[in-house]
Amino acid sequence: MAEGKVSVSEGVSGAAAAGGILTIGVGAVVANWRSLAARVAPARSAAVVKADAYGLGAAPLVGPLHDAGCRDFFVVALSEAEALRPLLPPDATIYVLNGLLPGTAAAYGDGILPVLNSLAQCRAWAGAWRGGRPSVIQVDTGMSRLGLDVAEQQALAGDPALLAATGARLIMSHLACADEPDKPASGAQLAAFRAARARLPGLAGSLAASSGIFLGPDYHFDLCRPGASLYGIETSPLAEGIGPVVDLRVRVAQLREIEAGASVGYGYTFRASRTTRLATLATGYADGWWRRFSGGTGAAYFGDTRLPSVGRVSMDSFSVDVSALPQGALAEGDLLELIGPHQSVDDLARAAGTIGYEVLTSLGRRYHRVYA
Ligand SMILES: *Cc1c(COP(=O)(O)O)cnc(C)c1O
Repeated sequence: MAEGKVSVSEGVSGAAAAGGILTIGVGAVVANWRSLAARVAPARSAAVVKADAYGLGAAPLVGPLHDAGCRDFFVVALSEAEALRPLLPPDATIYVLNGLLPGTAAAYGDGILPVLNSLAQCRAWAGAWRGGRPSVIQVDTGMSRLGLDVAEQQALAGDPALLAATGARLIMSHLACADEPDKPASGAQLAAFRAARARLPGLAGSLAASSGIFLGPDYHFDLCRPGASLYGIETSPLAEGIGPVVDLRVRVAQLREIEAGASVGYGYTFRASRTTRLATLATGYADGWWRRFSGGTGAAYFGDTRLPSVGRVSMDSFSVDVSALPQGALAEGDLLELIGPHQSVDDLARAAGTIGYEVLTSLGRRYHRVYA
């Protein structure tokens, strides 16, 4: 390719041709991590970067997080760990939350630790490496999801050779209700975790994810595991020091004016009662702009003006009523705010009856992504 020429692939994937521009504030993620790390000190703060950093892209984030001092990174699948390992210096550790799936022990490279979730997984890891490789032991403290139950903890404690051969260096568990500080469940899980640590002494401990951090220092132990808070999601009524990370602007694909009686979108669920000016926006449920945002649930913003959605969200587009704007204020190709200062990820989640985590991890791959 001749120098100075833009390739076709750059041309079609560039910002101008994209239906939307998703800006991810790398500095904002790092600032959130620093705020959490300061809050939990002298415990350490990890960064949970599973699911491609909750859909925002782990690769551009792990380096800046490491530069800020983060040395512990949690993913769910071994494949995620393998993708990130070359991007991080040797002093960083990557933990695989899924557990040791059968037949995978030999595939774990240096600096990638399995979270052993059952006695069988402890035996498999010990058999493969005989203490030659470190690991994490997860105990179940009430969630009944992943981790050794009490009987398995007792069996492991009663077999010191096996415990030594697991190479365990950390014991962890996960809180089910930390986002609801008034529930007694977290206190009960804390007690169960302390009991597990007493059974398996000498290991560093890790209990709190984002919302658990805000329950206070009792929950911090040696290592905290925030994910959502890094990405600006509201995780707890007690949360503080966390700023927004994501900004989404989408393009006006078409402007039109419809007469009273005309209908909009699949199923004709909206019928104009008067002359209405519409903008068809270039994003839909294939981009994570959920069908649940139909019919006024999700809005777009032009400056401070709210532009309610009308009709159903399609796979690739939806319509907003722009009658509130002066004629000529908008042109095809203009960008409108979908996530930003006027409408947060959590605002959308509340409107759609879900949580910010689900909205964030759904954000689509067709947006042009800017890491700012
Ligand atoms: C996802 C996850 C986290 C991070 O949770 P957030 O609520 O996003 O902070 C921490 N620990 C475990 C075991 C997880 O699965």
